[in-house]
Amino acid sequence: MFARIVTPFVLSVAIVAGALAASGGVTLAKTKAAAAPAPLPPPKPASAGESKEQSQDEQKEQTEKEETLSAKQLFGGVQLPSIGKAVSIGYYPRGCLAGGVEFPVSGENWQVMRLSRNRNWGHPSLIHFLEKFAPLATKATGWNGILVGDLAQPRGGPSPSDHASHQTGLDVDIWFMPMPDRVLSKEERDTISAPSLVSDDWKHLNSKTWTPQHIAFIKTAAQQPEVERVLVNAVIKKELCRVEAKQPHDWLAKVRPWYKHHDHIHVRLKCPADSPNCRAQPPVPGDDGCSAKELNHWLSDKVLRPSIGAPGKPAKPMMLSDLPPACKTVLEAPANKTNLANDKR
Ligand SMILES: [Zn+2]
Repeated sequence: MFARIVTPFVLSVAIVAGALAASGGVTLAKTKAAAAPAPLPPPKPASAGESKEQSQDEQKEQTEKEETLSAKQLFGGVQLPSIGKAVSIGYYPRGCLAGGVEFPVSGENWQVMRLSRNRNWGHPSLIHFLEKFAPLATKATGWNGILVGDLAQPRGGPSPSDHASHQTGLDVDIWFMPMPDRVLSKEERDTISAPSLVSDDWKHLNSKTWTPQHIAFIKTAAQQPEVERVLVNAVIKKELCRVEAKQPHDWLAKVRPWYKHHDHIHVRLKCPADSPNCRAQPPVPGDDGCSAKELNHWLSDKVLRPSIGAPGKPAKPMMLSDLPPACKTVLEAPANKTNLANDKR
């Protein structure tokens, strides 16, 4: 059923990809001719047979690559987004992103960290969310601004390290550390880490780092209507439940515990209306997530210290064929440089 739904998209991307690939070829040929020192005799036109053979070879090579490399190697090796309209495809931990847009690495109220990872790409709805959230969070916390961690890779998909999700361009990590009052260097952005808000035994807040501003920060994110979930460490969720218990706190239902998330929040947006093949996450349960049962589960030894057990077989890597079929088209599509952030064009 899924394959049937994506077929029109695959076709349209393929058609646009074909058209752009053809026009790219013409531009290249013109540039080469202009740069030549003296007119050269016209090259012998390739016979239809030769070019067919060449494209068959290229196709064979591509197919081999796609069958032997894991999806994270394939998507992690691409530096630029695909051409075409932005579309989120598949599920947050099993999907990709067509027409990704780059989030500028510095703004008035934000700076992007870990630039060497090239994961500041997203669906336009995520870029708009961050542009809106940065000044709102700055006002709510009194900070200079926010530090933004990973969004997605240029074409989404699984990434070589960390993160099972962040694949469809709708997830972003935002640090619990305020932005400093100066522009960080590229090197600083790769080396500075946010302090943990949770104690070393993972059972209490770290009183040296936790501040009331962190509540305002999380609340501001959860109150945005396009936000589907905000993931935080269970200790932090428990504290939010305690502080907010006596007042209306509808927003708290969206804030859910997840492993780690002691130094950043993970914000996940709902599927955008322009992405029919984006698979929605089941809605949050109707409660506020503050029941003793749920919190105790997340703070139990079973969850905090999962037994390592006997070494089993390593998990099978996710392959391109495990992703929605449209992700193959996204991976193979020509690159689009016009979606680069203004500071890089
Ligand atoms: Zn995350």
